[in-house]
Amino acid sequence: MPTTTPALILDSAGAPFRQGTIERRDLRPDDVRIDIAFAGICHSDIHTVREEWGPCQFPIVTGHEIAGVVSEVGSEVVNYQVGDRVGVGCLVDSCGECEYCVKGNENFCTKGAVGTYASVNYDGEIAQGGYSQQIVVSERFVVRIPQAIPLDVAAPLLCAGITTYTPLKRWGAGPGRSVAVVGMGGLGHMGVKIAAAMGADVTVISQTMSKEADGRAYGAIDYRATENPQVFEELRHAFDLVLCTVSADLPLDAYLGMVKPFGSLVLVGLPEKPQTVEAFSLILGDKVLTGSNIGGIPGTQEMLDFCAEHQIGATVERIGADEVGAAYDKVVASKVRYRFVIDSATIKP
Ligand code: NAP
Ligand code: ZN
Repeated sequence: MPTTTPALILDSAGAPFRQGTIERRDLRPDDVRIDIAFAGICHSDIHTVREEWGPCQFPIVTGHEIAGVVSEVGSEVVNYQVGDRVGVGCLVDSCGECEYCVKGNENFCTKGAVGTYASVNYDGEIAQGGYSQQIVVSERFVVRIPQAIPLDVAAPLLCAGITTYTPLKRWGAGPGRSVAVVGMGGLGHMGVKIAAAMGADVTVISQTMSKEADGRAYGAIDYRATENPQVFEELRHAFDLVLCTVSADLPLDAYLGMVKPFGSLVLVGLPEKPQTVEAFSLILGDKVLTGSNIGGIPGTQEMLDFCAEHQIGATVERIGADEVGAAYDKVVASKVRYRFVIDSATIKP
């Protein structure tokens, strides 16, 4: 018999959150059951339920930044025990056999990776996410949260942390390299902390100067605001790497102007509409324009261990189940400091 667990459910695009219950499957041999302590609110949750990326199948339970404690293990689980502190991010299944899975890039599985929500499991069931008190997941998609990171602070690392760690590592953030992080929200503030911990010279490019003190506290050596349009001229050819975390449309040519010749502009933000770019903006400087999608499971564990070693985590605002609707509006208005995490114990069945 599947078990029921309290969850925050949305029944349609405009509906308010409803506290109710959902079913979690019986444990398969390789499954673990996790008692969720906290779930982060990612802007992707909002894009999804507001149907900004296309139609969404309701009812839905979002949430792919999950931190908690193992409460039960299947008969063949080898890596986890009851009581272990663990996390689940954006993925809950993949084929495990294709060229991408075997190298730990499960997000690009040829069969199609199963997302934590808004996705169909290989058994045909719709996957439901982490705004709930329990989740059942194959141990292949579970990572260990180091003791040094509290669970509320750890939850956002499961998406915001890995989504910024992956491109910063791949595109060479490190000593002697200048990195700009555009947008200082959930992803952006983690990008600043991680790039600084990697040893790079970090500049924040925000819409306003209102978060300057925080940006500098997170390790930025410079902080600029695009409300001053001269910033694009002042920062011309200033960066080896520009990491764009903005959830809205941006003038990409202007940001490519900040990239040094041979440097890169990496998009992780996923705005609703297509973006355009002048070929000249790339060709005059042999610049790379690329994107980056979360990261695989080994990379997620590596990121968590890196964060523990460098004593960094997300800056969070804890909220209860009845505050999530208002929190969505605050995220869209760039008023979050810097990630909301839902205290799962507050969800009523
Ligand atoms: P968030 O907390 O809302 O942060 C986005 C930041 O973008 C805001 O804090 C704001 O920063 C800036 N911004 C917002 N509207 C803007 C506008 N109109 N013009 C310029 N800047 C604006 O969102 P998030 O959770 O970090 O997610 C950011 C984006 O990444 C979303 O689109 C999300 O879906 C996407 N995402 C992608 C992946 C991936 O795998 N690539 C994974 C997770 C999320 P300032 O206030 O500093 O200006
Ligand atoms: Zn996310």
